[in-house]
Amino acid sequence: MSSLLTLSKAASELHAKLEHFVKNQCEPAEKEYEAHMEGRIGADRWSIDAIPPCIQHLKAEARRLGLWNLFLPHPLPSHIPSNLSPTLYLTNREYGILCETMGRSSLAPEACNCSAPDTGNMEVLLKHGTKEQQLQYLVPLLNGTIRSAFLMTEPAVASSDATNIQTTLQKRVIEGSVRYVLNGTKWWSTGAMDPRCKVAIVLAKMDYSHPSCGGEAQQGKKGGGRHGAHTVVIVPMDHPGVKLVRPLTVFGYDDAPHGHAEVSLHNIDLDASSLVLGEGRGFEIAQSRLGPGRIH
Ligand SMILES: Cc1cc2nc3c(=O)[nH]c(=O)nc-3n(C[C@H](O)[C@H](O)[C@H](O)COP(=O)(O)OP(=O)(O)OC[C@H]3O[C@@H](n4cnc5c(N)ncnc54)[C@H](O)[C@@H]3O)c2cc1C
Repeated sequence: MSSLLTLSKAASELHAKLEHFVKNQCEPAEKEYEAHMEGRIGADRWSIDAIPPCIQHLKAEARRLGLWNLFLPHPLPSHIPSNLSPTLYLTNREYGILCETMGRSSLAPEACNCSAPDTGNMEVLLKHGTKEQQLQYLVPLLNGTIRSAFLMTEPAVASSDATNIQTTLQKRVIEGSVRYVLNGTKWWSTGAMDPRCKVAIVLAKMDYSHPSCGGEAQQGKKGGGRHGAHTVVIVPMDHPGVKLVRPLTVFGYDDAPHGHAEVSLHNIDLDASSLVLGEGRGFEIAQSRLGPGRIH
């Protein structure tokens, strides 16, 4: 009898391998992980030394066993190294069953490069990024050599409705070249304080009030409509305008060294190559990221 929990033969074999890995390698490593974090205080909880070495070992093991990047449902574009593809393309339903197994250990999702917020961010770059954006950020994310953050939620507004987002992306046309200047405050930015986090995917509201854009604003050509008012930009975390304000806690835990941060974005000057899909496409991207992101 078929059921929602039935797996194909190949997926079933992969699942068995994953169960063995989680039970025999990830779960036992949790104590080592906790011991590594114990006694660390302040900035020491967010330094590169705070990353427990067992994570690197588990990642290498997951890769060797063919348990890497299992969230990817389709073949990768040809400009991305084929060794970053999973050993098997799973349906969402099949992947959900494997996620339940990964969820038994706090270390397994990261070990298999299937953890939030990286999976959702990789999906954004894969679905909507340019070839250049994919080569710069998607490839190292698929390789597990960097991590990423998704910056949507803000302290000042009810962020469960993405159309409320107030961080501004001001368009300026300076001597014929188009610039975008980002300003705002985000919070609950998971992974932003992780020392391996090198890139943020940021949702911001278009601002056409700069005198160099007066025409556009007056004509109402852009920035109109609640669902066309926002844009997604890619921001390197080492930009001097990115400030990690503080770690936040959930039920008293800071979840270091990954955690959740309040982040200030101050006068971050970007060009058009930082935009994902283009002006006004932000709400659409946020929805396409968060919908699947809440399932897997
Ligand atoms: C552990 C953790 C990790 C997170 N990671 C990230 C992350 O990586 N990136 C990121 O951007 N965000 C992240 N978030 C934030 C999370 O997605 C938001 O908290 C969520 O979207 C809700 O937004 P909010 O906190 O602004 O709450 P609000 O939108 O203010 O909602 C608060 C309550 O008010 C209700 N409400 C809202 N509007 C209305 C209305 N008009 N009428 C009636 N009721 C309403 C809501 O249903 C809810 O019950 C994280 C949060 C947590 C706890």
